[in-house]
Amino acid sequence: MQYYVQVLKEMFYEKCAYCESKIKHISPIHIEHFYPKSEFYNQMFEWGNWLLACPLCNSNKGSKFPYCDDNPCFIDPTLENPNEHIDFLDSQILSKSVRGEKTIKEIRLDRIPLTEERARWLNNIRILLLLVLRDPTMHSQVRNLLIWAMQPDAPYTGMTRAYLREKTPKLANPESPHPMIQYQNQIKQIQKLIEKYEDELKNLT
Ligand SMILES: [Zn+2]
Repeated sequence: MQYYVQVLKEMFYEKCAYCESKIKHISPIHIEHFYPKSEFYNQMFEWGNWLLACPLCNSNKGSKFPYCDDNPCFIDPTLENPNEHIDFLDSQILSKSVRGEKTIKEIRLDRIPLTEERARWLNNIRILLLLVLRDPTMHSQVRNLLIWAMQPDAPYTGMTRAYLREKTPKLANPESPHPMIQYQNQIKQIQKLIEKYEDELKNLT
């Protein structure tokens, strides 16, 4: 089982398939069955039915499996683009369709601690934008961090993309896709950069 957990962690970039939180090394990993095993026994060992989920999303979804017009209501993040059903206003999650609404409500993707966690991450993104404005020499370093923040291996990419589409449309919608930035501890890099300029930033905000 440990082998499958490892493969799933890589496939899902160590993120919960539903809430996009990075799954911390200390928290237990949950293998989520998109089609609940209680109802769809034949799907229980189907590889394609396995998702990586954080303990809260996993338990909120549980064995629920509602239908919307004969189709499963829940958005399958491995087969569908959640963007068509879900949007963000800053850190608040919003639905764009009945299926989006059902997914948010049942898995509680609008739960307060999660919204607060997204807000903290969004604050980092805001600060990166401020840093570029303040000091153009940091442009390429910060630009790379912002591009990485929109990649699937970054946390809360759905929210970050929605925010940057509005604030820096050129960066968020390039004419040709940005080259993939390899992960080199970007989260720590962002935190260090913010700490370094903390005092100056207080005067700016
Ligand atoms: Zn989750």
